[in-house]
Formats: sequence, C-alpha cells, structure tokens
Amino acid sequence: LAKQQGRNTYHIFDPLNDQQLQRRQEQRQRFAEALVNNELRLHYQPQLNMTCGKIIGVEALVRWQHPELGLLAPGLFLPVIEGSGLEVALGEWGLEQALIQLQQWQQEGIMLPVHVNISPAHLLTIDFIDRLLYLLERYPQVPAHMLKLEVLETAAMHDIDAALSAIHRCQALGIDIAIDDFGTGYSSLTHLRQLPVNLIKIDQSFVRDMLTDKDDMAIVESVIYMANRFDRPMLAEGVETLEHARALAALGCRLVQGYGIARPMPPCQLPAWLTQWPGRKDWAALVSMDDT
Ligand code: C2E
Ligand code: MG
Ligand code: MG
Ligand code: MG
Repeated sequence: LAKQQGRNTYHIFDPLNDQQLQRRQEQRQRFAEALVNNELRLHYQPQLNMTCGKIIGVEALVRWQHPELGLLAPGLFLPVIEGSGLEVALGEWGLEQALIQLQQWQQEGIMLPVHVNISPAHLLTIDFIDRLLYLLERYPQVPAHMLKLEVLETAAMHDIDAALSAIHRCQALGIDIAIDDFGTGYSSLTHLRQLPVNLIKIDQSFVRDMLTDKDDMAIVESVIYMANRFDRPMLAEGVETLEHARALAALGCRLVQGYGIARPMPPCQLPAWLTQWPGRKDWAALVSMDDT
C-alpha cells in the first residue's frame, strides 16, 4: 500500500507517466545522435541599427536538419532536452560553430559579431568560462569581442550570484551579454537593475502585436523608457514591418531584428544578402527620415 501511495504522490508532482518518460528518453537519445551525426545547423538573422542603416551583427539560431522530418525549428526540440546535459552539449556545439563561421566570414571580409543563445543551465555550469576560454584558444584568429551571448533572464532567477559571476567573467574577456526575451520573466525590472548586461532584447511577442494591442504597446513603451533611464542599449525583436520600425524609432529604440529586415538564413546566403541590403530603399527612407 505504501508503495502504491508513493506512486500516486509521484504522479501528482510529475505529469509525465512512464510511457511519456520513456518517449522523452528516446527523443533525447535521438537528439544526441543528431549532434554526433552533424544534423544541426545554425541559421543567422541580421540585426539593424536604424540610425545609420547598417547591419551591426547577426544572431545564430539553431535548426535540426532531420533526415525524415525536414528542417525543425528549435521550439520542437529544445523543450525535450531542457534539464538534460544535452543543453550544455548543444551550447558548446553552437559556440564552436559560431567561431568557425566567424573565422570564415573574417576571411571573406565580413566583420559582423555573432550572437549565440546560451541556455541558463549552460551559463550556470561551473566550468562555463574555462570551456569558453578553451574554445576561444582553438580559434585564435577570432577576437573574443566578435562573440556575444544571449541569455534568458530566467538564468538570474535560478542563481543570481552564479549568473552575475558568469556575466562579469564573460565581459572581462570582451564578450558582451544580451538579456533575451526581456519582459517575459517575472520581476524583469529587478533583473534590469541587478544584471550588468550590455543589451536588452525586447521580446518579439510584445513587439509583434504592439501596433494592434494596446497592452503590448504599453509594455514595449515601458521597457524602452526603463532601458533608456538605465542607460542600457536595447534591441527590439520580431520587427515584421516598416510600421513597427517607425513606431520603435519614435519611442527611442534604434536597434531592430525581425522578418521585416530578414528571416534567419543559412550562412552561405548572408554575403549576398548583405550586398543587396543597402538597396532596400524602403528601410533607407526610414533611416534618412530618422536622421533629420
Ligand atoms: P530567441 O533567441 O528570442 O530568437 C528569436 C526567435 O524569433 C527566433 O525563433 C526567430 O526566428 C524568431 N523571429 C525573428 N524575427 C521574427 C519576426 O519578425 N516574427 C516572428 N514571428 N518571429 C521572429 P527560432 O529560431 O524558432 O528560435 C526560438 C528560440 O529558441 C530562440 O528565441 C532561442 O530562445 C532558442 N534558440 C534558438 N537557437 C538556440 C541555440 O542555439 N541555443 C539555445 N540554447 N537556444 C536557442
Ligand atoms: Mg536570442
Ligand atoms: Mg528573444
Ligand atoms: Mg525567444
């Protein structure tokens, strides 16, 4: 009977039944194979400074080129590996891929910093900095400041002291830290004050609907106001149209990223994309308007 009660208690706290647990284990195993079999890809999305009209960096976003299912977005597999060591393995893979890409672009004369998304669990591993240093040493041609990290504010909720220490040590290496999906975690304002981050990324969910949803507009306005008061650079993601960009510029946000500028693309497409960008007259008009 005690055993039965124990089982019941277990089920109250863990919504996954045995079958689901086994399925998740299989999916994790499959993802581990994908890492080894080189099925993961990084796509890159440009980031724009509307003040000068220049592309100032790119964000690396992982995709899984699944042999049967096609190109999978991270939303389909990141939740499965959350809480497993695979988060760290993915993060280290991403860092190394970004360094390899930086080195290649550098040889082609493209000098754009690459933002890499790092999961909170990975950032908070005890040897995060040592392993990052080891990676940087393997790619000595790439200056550390060309690498930037994006971290969710939940990293601070788990362990603020460890998060602060990791952030400080990255910055000492010249690696900027962005706080990603800002506004989605609770007590965002506290984090804004506590975390010495180099960039605040306003979550795309607020930006996307800001022109039609007055609550989302209020959140975007408040974040931009607060970031400016704290003297922190900010970038709005999810900018799908020129109207979004104009509204953001009017509110005092200069950096943007979103489908309106470009969708994330495979790295081989970026050089050609960068060449045609100055010809995008619609966005150029916005920029010159902004300059006057
Ligand atoms: P994120 O870091 O906040 O990245 C922004 C997401 O918004 C990306 O989705 C991007 O494709 C999408 N996006 C960009 N512009 C627009 C737009 O104008 N409209 C809309 N609707 N969406 C836009 P994606 O690539 O599916 O990535 C989702 C999340 O997965 C990322 O959110 C990030 O948290 C996570 N992620 C992606 N790559 C990695 C990675 O290599 N490592 C880790 N740990 N997490 C990653
Ligand atoms: Mg990001
Ligand atoms: Mg984000
Ligand atoms: Mg996100």
